[in-house]
Amino acid sequence: MIYLDNSATTRPFDSVVDCMADAMRERWFNASAAYAPALSVEKEIRACRRRLAAAAGAQESGVLFTSCGTEGDNLTIVGTAETLHAPMNFVVSAIEHPAVAETVKRVERLGHEVRVLPVDAQGRVDTVAARALIDEKTALISCMQVSNETGAIQPIGELSEIRRENAPQARLHVDGVQGFLRVPLNMQRLGVDFYAVSGHKIHGPKGIGALMVQPGRRLVPQMTGGGQEGGMRSGTYDAPAILALGEAVRRMTDEPPAERLRALKLRLWQQLKDADGVFANGPDPADAERSAPHILSLSFDGVRGEVLRNALEGEGILVSTGSACSSHKQKVSGALLSMGLARSRADGTIRVSLGCFNTEEEMDRAAEAILRQVQVLRRYQRR
Ligand code: PLP
Repeated sequence: MIYLDNSATTRPFDSVVDCMADAMRERWFNASAAYAPALSVEKEIRACRRRLAAAAGAQESGVLFTSCGTEGDNLTIVGTAETLHAPMNFVVSAIEHPAVAETVKRVERLGHEVRVLPVDAQGRVDTVAARALIDEKTALISCMQVSNETGAIQPIGELSEIRRENAPQARLHVDGVQGFLRVPLNMQRLGVDFYAVSGHKIHGPKGIGALMVQPGRRLVPQMTGGGQEGGMRSGTYDAPAILALGEAVRRMTDEPPAERLRALKLRLWQQLKDADGVFANGPDPADAERSAPHILSLSFDGVRGEVLRNALEGEGILVSTGSACSSHKQKVSGALLSMGLARSRADGTIRVSLGCFNTEEEMDRAAEAILRQVQVLRRYQRR
């Protein structure tokens, strides 16, 4: 099998699995208890917090462990809305993952306005429009770091600057699920207030993530109970998952994968780009400032993405037609349409996303299979 759907989820590193299994066997104590074995687990959790904070330019005390990226986005958006005493506006990009796009609908129901930032033809937020939409009534700006569909790196620094000029009261939230540890982001340096990340996208376990919060930023907790995480996120610490997340972060920090992933992506793209009717959506894949190292969105004239996906699966090559959550709904990607792609082109799209286990040989085999299948399918499919 050649697994090229790492934006849906990644295979955990073996050391992550070992760490988790070992923690479930040996370090299953309640980290909030007062006896020595529990204190030792708590100490290890603190070390994971430090590791995450260092990787994102956050403070150790601002790392909240969550169950996933979705929870971090929800806590930030609803948790911010619940601090407000008057109607304000929430500004989000047109291409947000449902974890953000669906959650701002809840905020709308609370009486706030939601303003949507358009994207340009490369799938990057239009900063001219942002300047017009972000104002003194903006409570929160929420933008993904990297598009899960095209790999477009969003202009977070420019959004932060616009916030500083137009709306110093507003908070800036970045959904870092697709970017964390593959595209650098320093919260402190960029003025990012909230940063949500997820374990299973970085070769860690599912069911664990983190929300990093800069000091002094207020949120109303969404999980109330025993008061863990300074009252911000109650629930017994999932020590095995947290320690395993820490191990994934250690691996990705000790051996940063970005350069290798980009070389693999370009190796694949080089073999496809000169074929007839093949397009890369989003920024130029070679543009390291704008295109994430691991995501390649490809469109093929005269071929439906879904049919190509199935044909590739028949050869043991797993890709997706969009984000994993939308692929069951089988509708054309809203993110691609909002970049101005024609419906037929959006419909002819697959997403290839790479991870640390992929190899050069896999890129060569995938390129050969894609070109061959596209030829075959074009013969059978009507344009
Ligand atoms: N945000 C983005 C950009 C994503 O791509 C995803 C998952 O694909 C999520 C949020 C949700 O993350 P999780 O699966 O950890 O809830």
